[in-house]
Amino acid sequence: MDITKIELHNMTCLEFDCSCGRKHRSGIKHISVESGSTRNLPLFLEPFKNVFVVTDNHTHEVCGKKVIALLKRQGFVVSHHTFFSTGFLVPDEKALGELIIELPSDTDVIVGVGSGTINDLCRMISHKCHIPYVIVATAPSMDGYASTVSPLIIKRTKLTYEAVFPYAVIADTDILKDAPLDMLYAGFGDILGKVTSLTDWNLSHKISGEYYCDTIAALVNRAMQKCVDNLNGISKREPEAIKSLVEALIISGVAMGFIGNSRPASGAEHHLAHYWEIEALSKGEAHNFHGISVGVGSVVISKLYNLVNKAESLGIDIPDSSYVEDLLLKLGAPKSPLEIGITESVFYNSILNAMEIRPRFTILRHASQLGILEEAARSITSFYYK
Ligand SMILES: [Zn+2]
Ligand SMILES: [Zn+2]
Repeated sequence: MDITKIELHNMTCLEFDCSCGRKHRSGIKHISVESGSTRNLPLFLEPFKNVFVVTDNHTHEVCGKKVIALLKRQGFVVSHHTFFSTGFLVPDEKALGELIIELPSDTDVIVGVGSGTINDLCRMISHKCHIPYVIVATAPSMDGYASTVSPLIIKRTKLTYEAVFPYAVIADTDILKDAPLDMLYAGFGDILGKVTSLTDWNLSHKISGEYYCDTIAALVNRAMQKCVDNLNGISKREPEAIKSLVEALIISGVAMGFIGNSRPASGAEHHLAHYWEIEALSKGEAHNFHGISVGVGSVVISKLYNLVNKAESLGIDIPDSSYVEDLLLKLGAPKSPLEIGITESVFYNSILNAMEIRPRFTILRHASQLGILEEAARSITSFYYK
């Protein structure tokens, strides 16, 4: 079976023997990406009766009210909880506790209506309470909808927890196309990050013999390419462009599920983004949308690839930083650390220390092992902070 030719809605409950020698599996029961797909929700929820809907004060207005009314009309017993926040809702101990307190004990299924934070909170509660959850996406802003991990802020630092697949993912392009522009930029940035995450995975395979799957890498690459081909339509909110963006984000999540961790979708560009985010959190400051930082991180890591490759040929295809930068420029999204408020010292230190965020082999670690990371950090920092 050629997984790269399978349509997204057929990637549900899929299990196949791959040429990499492993069996890949997706536990998602339903995926619906189309105009008006919210109407499929009652159908997907047929095996359940008591539904607990989770929204925040923004997503409640955008889609939550509609979802609750739709389910009540169809005879479901619906209870709900709405998080109230003036800025970003933080997926931390407080939010998790709030959700546990509000969760009715007879809940059959949780329906999250939102994007990254609501999805991460619902997934964690679903995992811990053994209750399936469905996500109704409200913004194409990150690739976590179909994955199995929950990045949470615990003790003011970002930690990623293994959790579960959603039971179903609903991505209604009529709703997604109206998401704030920054969230569209973030979604594209998270996809663009695959340019460097896939290269890191390949590099690690070549240098350290880490397991690698050509098929899954090709699957993610194909989804990214389709999204890049539709780049011009994203900021114009054209339905086809929004559809290819959200499909790429969901495929990236499915790919992580196939591998069993985030390797295909997260490399050094994510480590930089996490470093910047943790730095802001530790000072009690607001941070950028995850995908916006990842997009910038991807440009920076592409530059690093270039420098390392000049010092010692890596023998693999490496990303072209001007190509990556150009795509962000065409979209109108931030492309440099200055544009997203990263100070010179934080930026310099992030290149030196982001590899400590998790023990994953990336170009940052390789440059460090070659003894050229400091010089590269100085060079890239002086390029931006003249
Ligand atoms: Zn494989
Ligand atoms: Zn990401």
